[in-house]
Amino acid sequence: MDLKELISSMTLEEKASLCSGRDFWTTKPIERLNIPSTFVSDGPHGLRREDDSDTDVGVKRSFPATAFPPAVNMAASWNEEAVAKVAEQIAYECKDQKVSVILGPGTNIKRSPLCGRNFEYFSEDPFLAGKLARAYIESCQKYNVGTSLKHFAANNQEKLRMTISAVVDERALREIYLAPFEEAVKAQPWTIMCSYNRINGVYSSDNKKLLTDILREEWGYKGLVVSDWNAVNDRVQGVRAGLDLEMPACGGRTDKEIVEAVKNGDLKEEELDKVVARVLDLVFKGQKYLEKDYKADYEKAHQVAKEMAEESIVLLKNENKVLPIKNKDVVVIGELANTFRYQGAGSSRINPYKLVNFIDAMKQDGVNVDFHQGYTLQGDGYNKAIFEDAVAAANTDKQVIVFIGLTDEYETEGMDRAHLSIPSAQDDLVRAIAGINKNAVFVILGGSPIEMPWIEDVKTLLNAYLPGEAGGEAIRDIIYGKVNPSGKIAETYPIQLEDNINAELFPMGPKCVEHRESIFVGYRYYDTAKKEVLFPFGYGLSYTQFEYSNLVVDGNKVTFTIKNVGKVDGKEVAQLYIRDLDPKVFKADKELKGFKKVFIKAGEEKQVTIELDRRSFAFYNTKINDWSATNGKYEILVGASSRDIKLSEVIDKKDLDKKVEVENYQEECPVYYNMETLKSISQEDFKKLYKGEIPENVPTKRGEFDRNATIGDLQCCLIGKIIMWAAPKVIASQVKNADFTTMLMIKQGMIEMPMRGLNGVTQGLLDEKVMDGMLLWANKHRTKGFFKMMSGLFKTIGKVKKN
Ligand code: BGC
Repeated sequence: MDLKELISSMTLEEKASLCSGRDFWTTKPIERLNIPSTFVSDGPHGLRREDDSDTDVGVKRSFPATAFPPAVNMAASWNEEAVAKVAEQIAYECKDQKVSVILGPGTNIKRSPLCGRNFEYFSEDPFLAGKLARAYIESCQKYNVGTSLKHFAANNQEKLRMTISAVVDERALREIYLAPFEEAVKAQPWTIMCSYNRINGVYSSDNKKLLTDILREEWGYKGLVVSDWNAVNDRVQGVRAGLDLEMPACGGRTDKEIVEAVKNGDLKEEELDKVVARVLDLVFKGQKYLEKDYKADYEKAHQVAKEMAEESIVLLKNENKVLPIKNKDVVVIGELANTFRYQGAGSSRINPYKLVNFIDAMKQDGVNVDFHQGYTLQGDGYNKAIFEDAVAAANTDKQVIVFIGLTDEYETEGMDRAHLSIPSAQDDLVRAIAGINKNAVFVILGGSPIEMPWIEDVKTLLNAYLPGEAGGEAIRDIIYGKVNPSGKIAETYPIQLEDNINAELFPMGPKCVEHRESIFVGYRYYDTAKKEVLFPFGYGLSYTQFEYSNLVVDGNKVTFTIKNVGKVDGKEVAQLYIRDLDPKVFKADKELKGFKKVFIKAGEEKQVTIELDRRSFAFYNTKINDWSATNGKYEILVGASSRDIKLSEVIDKKDLDKKVEVENYQEECPVYYNMETLKSISQEDFKKLYKGEIPENVPTKRGEFDRNATIGDLQCCLIGKIIMWAAPKVIASQVKNADFTTMLMIKQGMIEMPMRGLNGVTQGLLDEKVMDGMLLWANKHRTKGFFKMMSGLFKTIGKVKKN
């Protein structure tokens, strides 16, 4: 039976039932019609298949799987093949654990280094982020395991992620925030996950412009759109907008809404049929490729995880050429080397198949390790005795290796960081050790940039980010020179947070987050503003040196030569940027348009070719709502980072558009031509570019609460206070085994949960009347609210008993 026939044989109720999940991870089967269920799991840098026998309500225990380095590392590898290799292993493990779709990759843009989820995202640059996400998807799906490209779109801050509206001008939306998705969609991911937030006022889950007009009609996407977990705002509008599957389960509530809407003519059945067809396509694909006896090779995957770590670790400083070391007697300082920080916190946290921390990795290799804690992992990390012990131990002729970085508490999904510092005991420890030992090697662990107030004193610095379960071995092999470091940071490290143009605007709330800097994100801002940075975008050192020569630009083909002039073999990440010398609209100083990672033996050279296309020269033209690329002069820049341009050539493009109509930005919003002198961008100035209404960023008042009011919003009245008092107790009784950071995330999630989400988190058990009653109460209709709430509570008790 083909899909059309199958759909026509379904009842309206059956169709609607397919529009939401059965539980947390599976879709609903329909036995009568032999429609199977499909299993999806987190994602993205390894498999987190939850163990159902764990009755804890938090982030449940999951089955062991390989913990690969997350997206921040994959991006620092600048290596599409290495990303593809990781995705291949993830696919094998999914097959082994009978998972049809892995919930990743995430390719949101790192708008600010503070975003708590940056470790799960690739880059501040849309070109790089798009290419790597595409490589991941193409590879994973080659082995018939689906992916879920997420979080579509503009989910750039964790604060109030479930309700915040990202206010973004159309040009920045297209060029910065949608561009990585546009590239990745070329690989046709089986699914795309819509984000929690609103974009310019409209929830992604309701957003027809996003989910249909752009995604399907413009970009030609054929797969299924799934909601982020509990992201659905208005299910019926979601169907109209192109949201196919709501996850997780809703207890039948929104299925009923869909049935009603079709019956009363609010929703056309053909629209529902389209959604049903895409769900069916996914579940049959999932079923077709399930292999009963498949066994993954977890040892092999561990090696691939190690290779990715090696590709992604960035050598930031090696002033005295202390690295690589030879000494087999070392003093290791820093609790993070022992309680190894190798992955981020939140829904992507994997139960590692084989975790090798740095100390064990060294011991495995016959190194004699003298370990000293130096600091604790709680709060600021101070403990006088262990601090002093570590400083004393650093005063030695042995090789000292110091681990520092962000702790789980400092960086997690669900929350943004408040500053760029590492715990202050660690900063003090670095200063103390650098002061007495010039040869100490410092290693940073953590998923995003940190401020380094001690940078002048530290001579040797390695940035391992979150190197995955084999990270200890990879760091060891780099330190001893078995592996030559070749990672480069895929984001700018500012000297201090305040240097960023959007520092004061991140995170923002309670209603919206204005993206006032428009396209000036990351190096697009720093390089245009000519601002000094700690380490520029694309920066990373090697144990060898490379020389660039022979730049030839022939139409869209750019070739050049790189020679390894050092003594050891190595890999170089060459980057191609384009500078528009004849811009028709405001532009960044340069934009990344190509990159290549090449392995070159000592003394040898290689020719590198990078192909450009029309899009390499294009900007999104809001006057015509399309991409424009105009004739004129451009500078092709080839370099080792955005601030280390080795070769350049000015070209005169004549094969692009002769003339295009553009907005008169220069007159209407001149500040965007002024990055060098600008301190911040006012709302007035942004409004001229954005051209729409910006909601006032004030808390919702009593009388105005609707289902999108958060539990935190309701705190201004008694019922809110009661919930805030009771909820932590309910959480504590249900979530028993969660660690401190997971608990923080769950509590924050609770405060920021919109009332409509209560039904979802209880998988439909909590009757809607309870939340509507609470809202009535909060809106000063206390008696009516109370009775509604109580009647809902009785219904809920009934449902619980039935279950
Ligand atoms: C996260 C998603 C994740 C999902 C399922 C959500 O809270 O935003 O990235 O895939 O949960 O765990």
